Amino acid sequence: MNADVDKFAQKVEVACEHVKQLYHQVNNSCLPQADLLAQSLEELSVTLEELHVAEEELLQRNEQLSAARQTTEAERQRYQELFDFAPDGYLVTNLEGTIIEANLAAGMLLNVPQRFLIGKPITLFVPEPARKSFRTEMARMRLIDRKQEWEIGLKPRERSPFEASLTVATIRDEAGQAIALRWLVRDITERKRAEEDLRRVQMQNLQLVEASRLKSEFLGILSHELRTPMNIILGFAQLLLRHSKSHLSAHQTQMVESILKSGKHLLALINDMLDYTKLETGRLDVHPELMHLSNLVTATVHSLEHLAHQKQLQLKVHINMEDPWVTNDSTRLRQILINLLSNAIKFTDVGEVEVEVQEIFPDRIAIAVKDTGIGIAESDQLHIFEAFHQVNSALTRNYEGTGLGLAITYSLVQKMRGMVTVESAPNQGSTFRVELPRQVDQGLRSGMTSLR
Ligand code: ADP
Repeated sequence: MNADVDKFAQKVEVACEHVKQLYHQVNNSCLPQADLLAQSLEELSVTLEELHVAEEELLQRNEQLSAARQTTEAERQRYQELFDFAPDGYLVTNLEGTIIEANLAAGMLLNVPQRFLIGKPITLFVPEPARKSFRTEMARMRLIDRKQEWEIGLKPRERSPFEASLTVATIRDEAGQAIALRWLVRDITERKRAEEDLRRVQMQNLQLVEASRLKSEFLGILSHELRTPMNIILGFAQLLLRHSKSHLSAHQTQMVESILKSGKHLLALINDMLDYTKLETGRLDVHPELMHLSNLVTATVHSLEHLAHQKQLQLKVHINMEDPWVTNDSTRLRQILINLLSNAIKFTDVGEVEVEVQEIFPDRIAIAVKDTGIGIAESDQLHIFEAFHQVNSALTRNYEGTGLGLAITYSLVQKMRGMVTVESAPNQGSTFRVELPRQVDQGLRSGMTSLR
């Protein structure tokens, strides 16, 4: 803009020069007065025109200047608002730490009204023991451009200290000399608390995982240790029964039969426990082989017929397969089926239990076990696959069981890369449906993480 003013001044000077020359000519000329006057007037009008043009240019420049000023002012105000209403504290200090500028949030964080912060040393808010090292760090800022995540306790006026994270940037002049420092002050008390909580939870989690591992190990050892004597008890009980006719009275035979029945039940529980701990610690593997699924299902259903007949339940099988050959672990598949079938029989007092096998093209199979029993409420369906969970209702309280059968089933099915679902409603019966790949792979050791 100075150039414009200079240009205008030059033009005025030129015009003045013209007028001076005219004056000189008029004084020294020998021309008649009229000619001289005409010539002078013409010169004057040219000069005036030039002045006019210069004035117009100046006006235009002036308008541009005021528009530019308005934009700059709007920007300044915007910056000021951002600065004032930013959620974090912002400060500008000189290199010694004397506050030159502060925003509202800084005032609130340090509990000093914004305008009274100006002129105060920032070190005033650093607790005494940390001041020396704070000053050293501040002096180092001349050498570096930025320091981030500088965590320090700050002490606001008349309040207890809080955990702050500082970000400091060095402001330099054109020659690169450090002239001031810009500070961002963030209250990280909440973050620190959350981090602390997280650390505690992680620690507890680790302890829980360890406790759970120890528990599984203990259960595993215990079950194993229990199984050997239990087999011996059952063996001798069976021997006794075999000789009962000649050696035992009717009453004694009944007692041995009771030992045998309870022993078998106990052995089944011990076996469940052992399987569960193996699954939980990832030590149970499936061993797939080519097997005839229809035969396996029919034989398994047959082996449980006596239980159904004891309760006068009908036990039906529908096998709908074009190709009955699948690749799976027959022992584990039988175990799944026995778990579902024995539950269906256990929780049904009237009606029937039905097993249905289907092919799902192209490469899956489904086994459904349906009953007409007591059913399961929707809220309980979410939990029945969890270990040790038994529906706690007056209806089921009378039934025996460990609450492990479905947890084992769920885990085995997962290991086989399949899924098990339930559809049920109270007093409407239940349908458990297992869907499996026709060809099960050896599988990874996956444990039972999904059940915890
Ligand atoms: P449990 O040894 O108690 O049978 P499970 O893990 O096999 O353990 O089953 C868990 C619970 O799920 C059972 O206690 C029972 O409440 C419910 N449940 C399982 N199958 C059925 C079913 N067919 N009908 C009704 N309730 C069932």
